[in-house]
Amino acid sequence: MTETWIGVAAARAHILQRIAPVGELETVALDQALDRVLARAVGARFDVPPQDNAAVDGFAIGAGDDLDRGALLEIRGQLQAGRLDPQPLAAGQALHIMTGAPLPPGVDRVIPQEQVEIDPISVRIPPGTRSGANIRRRGEDIRSGTEVLAAGLRLTPAALGVAAALGETQLCVWRRPRIALLSTGDEIAPPGTVRRAAQIYDSNRASLGASLRRHGADLIDLGIVGDDRDRLRAALTAGALQADAMVTSGGVSVGLHDLLKPVLGDLGQVDFWQVRMTPGRPLAFGSVRGRPLFGLPGNPVAALISYRLFVRPALEKLAGAPPWRDPPRLRARTTEALPKKRGRMEFKRGILTDGADGPTVRSTGPQGSGILTSLVRANCLIVLEEDRGPVAAGETVEIELLD
Ligand code: AMP
Ligand code: MG
Repeated sequence: MTETWIGVAAARAHILQRIAPVGELETVALDQALDRVLARAVGARFDVPPQDNAAVDGFAIGAGDDLDRGALLEIRGQLQAGRLDPQPLAAGQALHIMTGAPLPPGVDRVIPQEQVEIDPISVRIPPGTRSGANIRRRGEDIRSGTEVLAAGLRLTPAALGVAAALGETQLCVWRRPRIALLSTGDEIAPPGTVRRAAQIYDSNRASLGASLRRHGADLIDLGIVGDDRDRLRAALTAGALQADAMVTSGGVSVGLHDLLKPVLGDLGQVDFWQVRMTPGRPLAFGSVRGRPLFGLPGNPVAALISYRLFVRPALEKLAGAPPWRDPPRLRARTTEALPKKRGRMEFKRGILTDGADGPTVRSTGPQGSGILTSLVRANCLIVLEEDRGPVAAGETVEIELLD
């Protein structure tokens, strides 16, 4: 059993190296595929759009006409979307065409309806129109024979739209990771029960459960287990039989009843770290029957920030998504001094505002790791790197937006 101080990046690298993708395929209907991870790439068997077509409601004009000084052209007829007119446009003719209608052969440009004057049988084209204007080219979105959606893509509404445009009705995705979630502590009571004076309600299962669901896990709720070595051992053993990975909160500090570390030691393998970060210093990572276990700290803010740093990237890897990349960091000027200890990363809950001289940020107020409302008020995290000391008002800091 190791018990060492470790930096955030090293802890994460160690964890990710121990995680293997779930790797089981499922076929799901398109309307069930949102946020799932694509397992088999989707390719195009035809061009999208399948034909050159009109980008606006207006008049299709043939290539032969000299249009530099404008022209008066005969209206040959009209064509609506969904109809085909295979007859080439002759010189001197215009075709009243609707957005999305396929162009007949020989069309050089489409002139928007608003730019022309129509009398019942002819149309006046103004000078200065451009060859190729308002034509959507065959294949300009997707070329037949190309890979369009790559394996590993997490399916967004736009990606599902593309799959539908290619005529797909179902997609091959990876099975969602099944994650077992457990709260620990004699003092933790489930909402909906009567709370004794020394008890608090379980907030971690609500917040971590919601995070896991939002990020694509299939949740197995193992409830609350008190500070009892045998019951904790039984719960983790049962969890390992059903889940691809387990997430617990609490019981990883150095209190007399912090049992996760010894129980993990009994059951399997454990790395226990003091991560150089705040909130969220203690972190246990190990495995039970080959299933990875994340022992997050009990304090509600620490639990969520540890989740963000360690569980989320691991969940992506389990799910078959490409290697995790941290969300982009922005820079903002802090309008207040921020206490900071050198030698650990600190994550302050911040409120980012778009000021006249660029973005500014302030903290949400008291930053205790049990003050969960700070995360409700925040719209960003202020990320202060390990080697930074106290921050003065006016200095630039890095922030990550919260989703
Ligand atoms: P522990 O690591 O078990 O000592 O917990 C640290 C702090 O977090 C204690 O104040 C606990 O009461 C609190 N805590 C632990 N688990 C939860 C939970 N599920 N919901 C809310 N607070 C918790
Ligand atoms: Mg506890």
